Parts: sequence; C-alpha cells; structure tokens
Amino acid sequence: MATDDEPDPLTGYRDAVLTAMLAEIGRALVRRAGLRSCHCLCRYRHPAETGVCDSEAVTTREFVSDELGSVHVPMCAPCIVAQGVAEGIPGAR
Ligand SMILES: [Zn+2]
Ligand SMILES: [Zn+2]
Repeated sequence: MATDDEPDPLTGYRDAVLTAMLAEIGRALVRRAGLRSCHCLCRYRHPAETGVCDSEAVTTREFVSDELGSVHVPMCAPCIVAQGVAEGIPGAR
C-alpha cells in the first residue's frame, strides 16, 4: 500500500485506463459520424512532414497488420499525399 510520502501507485494505471477510454470514445465517434478526424500516425508514416495534417478525414486507407488484420484508417488529404511521398518516391525527401 502507498504511504503519504510515495506517489500513488495507481496513478499511472488510471492514466492508462483514461487514455484507453478516450481512444475508444474517439473510435466510437468516428464510427457513428462516419469519417471525421484523421487517424494518420504522422510521426511514423511520414516523419518528414508531420505538420501537414489538417485532421479532416476525406477517405480511408487500408492497413494490414498481423494483430488487427485489415484496418481502414480515416485519413486527411495532406496525410495521404505525405504518405505517398514518404513511401512511394525514394529520394523525394
Ligand atoms: Zn499524417
Ligand atoms: Zn492527417
């Protein structure tokens, strides 16, 4: 058990639960409203142009992963382009 002097050991756990809940709520909103906000992982998908995202998804892009199978991720137009640059044109950046 925690004493008054030590940080609450549940704090990190609560933060993780809260984060997971918010993520789930976000996914539910996207499902209900159709395309809404861009879910591009800019920092990973197009690290050279992380500032281009305008957050307004206009389409989805299919990603296939071992854990999740086929996933259609809402994407905004600038991110689609930036991903294409990052993936499709060697030496463009
Ligand atoms: Zn992006
Ligand atoms: Zn985006």
